[in-house]
Amino acid sequence: MPTGNLRHGGKVQFDIHMLPAKHGDALWIEYGDGTKRRRVLVDAGPINAWQAISAHLDKLPDDDRNVELLVITHVDTDHIEGVIRLLAPPVAKWLIQPQEIWFNGYEHMRSGERPLGGKHGEFLSALLHRRNAASWNKAFKGEAVMLPDSGCLIEIPLADGMKLTLLSPNRSKLLEMATQWERDVAAWEADPGDLESGWEELVKTTKYHGSELSLGPEDITDKLQKQLRGHDGSKANGSSIAFLASYRGRTCLFLADAHADIVCDSIRKMLVDGQAFLKVDAVKVSHHGSRNNITSEFMELVDADHWLISTNGDVHGLPNEAAIEAIIVGARSKPTLWFNYRSKFTEPFERDARHGVEFQTRYPGDGQEGLRLSLFTPEQ
Ligand SMILES: [Zn+2]
Repeated sequence: MPTGNLRHGGKVQFDIHMLPAKHGDALWIEYGDGTKRRRVLVDAGPINAWQAISAHLDKLPDDDRNVELLVITHVDTDHIEGVIRLLAPPVAKWLIQPQEIWFNGYEHMRSGERPLGGKHGEFLSALLHRRNAASWNKAFKGEAVMLPDSGCLIEIPLADGMKLTLLSPNRSKLLEMATQWERDVAAWEADPGDLESGWEELVKTTKYHGSELSLGPEDITDKLQKQLRGHDGSKANGSSIAFLASYRGRTCLFLADAHADIVCDSIRKMLVDGQAFLKVDAVKVSHHGSRNNITSEFMELVDADHWLISTNGDVHGLPNEAAIEAIIVGARSKPTLWFNYRSKFTEPFERDARHGVEFQTRYPGDGQEGLRLSLFTPEQ
């Protein structure tokens, strides 16, 4: 179960594999009805996870490296570096062949006179521009992946009946990111969005490509609520692309590092006819289980059996205990916590007196990293 093997089976499938992306995210989704397997990749971890991520992708059959969609949720290194490394070689050598790529770069985010930028964003923009411009934000006609200003929800169909409902970002979350991005690229003496300069800088930054690249709810107590900050000041996180994926009645919220406020707003819009909460099968918890990105409001709005936490605990010491506690006591159904690493931040929950009674845990097997959840045959 935990890592690696790309299992074949002749039945309906919707699997979410949290690849071993160190302190970041790399989510490998496989779905299909047994006749053809479809794939989606959401982020590819930081550069030091590249070996593990590429080893996973390299297991794909040479004659079928097709991926329906590659989503780069936002520009933070723990999500984007692996993607830069992935797309740095010439297209023919890419480990996957994405039909479409979602990424909000400078060219898409221009709104009035306020563009968006950011160093890694510039790298990736330069790559997409050179390598695969036709696939870039295709479902959005080449514009930004964001909620429309009208406030309506948008649902994007993928092959064979998968549907993605966009939850984040909106225009204001994107604009809040602008200043930081401009500051990031200021040292280059080039304008944000100048993709030729971005390319030159990328070529100099060989860690991404070696030398391959040439110029070319209510039980949450007050005390616990106080620990849940519910506010994440990171503008990059706020620009996260988050969505609900639905396939043949099974559903998962992919929340990247999105802010709780916009996610809650979007979920509220999805509720119909006096519905109090959204029932989903699984949640990829926002921001690796940070207490800044989960609120009692969110727990009230969502009912899920499976809660996925992707991080090895490096860098920011995530998940925060308060965030996991909020899931344990705030979940409407007995939650199963899926951790893709054993760490000093995730192991204590296995020893908790409530373990097995009020919640379940899943970890990788001995000596393994990464974890796969199958929504059609959940390992309960
Ligand atoms: Zn992150």
